[in-house]
Amino acid sequence: MRQAKRLKSVRYDIRGPVLRRAQEMEAAGHRILKLNLGNPAPWGLATPGPIVADVVQNLVEAQGYSDARGIYSARVAVAQRYQNLGVTDVQPDDVLLGNGVSELIMMVLQALLDSGDEVLVPSPDYPLWTAAVNLCGGQAVHYRCDESAGWQPDLEHLASRITERTRALVVINPNNPTGAVYSEQALLGMIELARRHGLMIFADEIYDRIVYDGATHHTLAALAPDVPVVSMGGLSKVYRAAGFRSGWLATSGFTGTDTDYLNGLQLLANLRVCPNVPAQHAIQTALGGYQSIDELIRPGGRLLEQRDHAWREVVSIPGVDCVKPEGALYLFARLDPAVHKIHDDEKLVIDLLEQQHLLISHGSGFNIDTPDHLRMVFLAPTDVLDDAIGRIRTFLSTYRQ
Ligand code: PLP
Repeated sequence: MRQAKRLKSVRYDIRGPVLRRAQEMEAAGHRILKLNLGNPAPWGLATPGPIVADVVQNLVEAQGYSDARGIYSARVAVAQRYQNLGVTDVQPDDVLLGNGVSELIMMVLQALLDSGDEVLVPSPDYPLWTAAVNLCGGQAVHYRCDESAGWQPDLEHLASRITERTRALVVINPNNPTGAVYSEQALLGMIELARRHGLMIFADEIYDRIVYDGATHHTLAALAPDVPVVSMGGLSKVYRAAGFRSGWLATSGFTGTDTDYLNGLQLLANLRVCPNVPAQHAIQTALGGYQSIDELIRPGGRLLEQRDHAWREVVSIPGVDCVKPEGALYLFARLDPAVHKIHDDEKLVIDLLEQQHLLISHGSGFNIDTPDHLRMVFLAPTDVLDDAIGRIRTFLSTYRQ
């Protein structure tokens, strides 16, 4: 049986051939060190106890379907969170819960796009955005983020990519894979372009509380009260509960004429009946309670130490540099083409996997057009990071393509 032709334009390489090769090797009995996924809990960064307790306590009550938008108490908590962040017009009915941000990304695009409509997506990006635009029949048009400027978005390039078919702008901040935290000036520049060209903004802010060195995360919607913004977040990263599959969106800046889009979104929410109900019970406690993520990112905190350690070690490898990430969970390192002449970065990570039993991700899997970047997750403890980076150092010292 053949697959739908539509899928031919859909790529999700970070779970593609490289991962399949790792699975084959594991099936053959090899132990693989995996630093390819932003999945905190398996690295001892467990979901905070009160959040788990809430799900357990509500399990008996959570046997039936919920409202298609999600349970009211969780939507109130999300609305209040955005209000506190300065997005003053968000009400519980502007909030929609989902089985992770991933499901919501599919829904917000499905509700918007007709065949050939264009969406501005950062390069590099979290590749679900590009894949989902294409899956919905749209066209992902990439705008450059500038590595020499700490991976801030290149506003001139972004402006040059806008056409009559452009419907929306995706902003991932803090960014996966680069770890950039966008300046207020960059955000205001993007908002102004959206305002001028009548674009909706999708603000993927799933890493909003994971910022280092006192960096400030600016909630995009708070800077754009008059622009339709869909802000998105969830439990997977900040609350280390990726397996719960729980996320939210909040719409703001929508006016009377935008209700058609919002009705479409509601229709899609109805079609999927409701998100996983037990996991919805975690949201109120997560958002309202003590924010234990702060302990991990402050001086002496585990995530901050791991970021510093991994970055120091990676940039000490000859021919490797890396913008120090200000947020999120990843190093996006660059191989200097003068030292490492790489033509195929996917082959490089497969060769690394086969020779060193280490799994990381190739940069072109994140929609950049040069084969010279690698993404590594720094969720593991420092001794494991040392081991991994040592393997990369050994591998690169002799690797030729
Ligand atoms: N958005 C970004 C930028 C991500 O990095 C991820 C997961 O890695 C997601 C969305 C999806 O998260 P969820 O687990 O909520 O589906």
